[in-house]
Amino acid sequence: MRPTEIEAIRQQLPGWLEASLPCVSRGKVAAYIPELSKAPHAALGITLLNTMGESATAGDCGLRFTMQSISKVFTLILALMDNGEDAVFSKVGMEPTGDNFNSMLKLELVRPGIPFNPMINAGAITVSSLIHGDSPSEKSDRILQFLQELSGNAGLEYDLGVYRSESETGNLNRSIAFFLKENGVLSGNVEEVLEVYFRHCSIAVNCADLARMALVLACSGTDPLTGNTLIPRRYVQIARTFMTTCGMYNASGEFAIQVGLPAKSGVSGGILTFVPGRYGIGVLGPALNDKGNSYAGVHLLQTISREMNWSIF
Ligand code: GLN
Repeated sequence: MRPTEIEAIRQQLPGWLEASLPCVSRGKVAAYIPELSKAPHAALGITLLNTMGESATAGDCGLRFTMQSISKVFTLILALMDNGEDAVFSKVGMEPTGDNFNSMLKLELVRPGIPFNPMINAGAITVSSLIHGDSPSEKSDRILQFLQELSGNAGLEYDLGVYRSESETGNLNRSIAFFLKENGVLSGNVEEVLEVYFRHCSIAVNCADLARMALVLACSGTDPLTGNTLIPRRYVQIARTFMTTCGMYNASGEFAIQVGLPAKSGVSGGILTFVPGRYGIGVLGPALNDKGNSYAGVHLLQTISREMNWSIF
């Protein structure tokens, strides 16, 4: 009998991962958030999960890491669910920047001075200010609960070590937030908005958690394993589009050509991606390239996508 697709992937995956390992030595672990520099440089892991709940895993897929910018996809969705499209897009744009994820450059250069998109830090900080709740902790806990629901893992928690480390050293993000406040883009207390932002960046997951969240996006907002609709289809469509155009920062065009799947990366080395209607995928590889994406993680996704002919383009 011919193996099913997931069985075939299970057979090939260790070899594909092995072939991506040499990339690890070319990357660097992020150190600008001091706590992140403790991540295992040579780690590489992946989990793929299909709509039947069958998974294929390889490497260090059980390691825990913080979501960092991957959380931006889900805070955008929650802000859309809280406020609707018009309110959100009056504060943040829809275009890629071509600049680094933490750049402030265009906030001053281009009018109106709203962030270009919700996947860069300026945009995500703005989105954090739109999450409903009476206090920073209520807002943060709503985000955490949303991610617990999407991952099917009620045990997801903040990594408080990483949270404090970023909160103590995040001067660039602070500058961005104050600049946005000055321009009337951010309303409310700047430190409180940053608390919400740093907290959702510090939510700890493993590759299986990311794969399950990604599977919900792959299935247009309905968790195929429970049948529950967790996100309105339209907001998934918006999130998927941003992942395609801006999810890998200023390497999103290259990723679209080399891998061809909507994706979002974080400086912890995580990547969340999916094959529409079919697979949710979580990857970890803490050694980053100069654009802030996992070096080996991108290489591994490129191999799998080519072997399986998964590009959506
Ligand atoms: N918390 C990180 C920051 O704001 C997230 C950035 C990222 O993952 N690219 O710098």
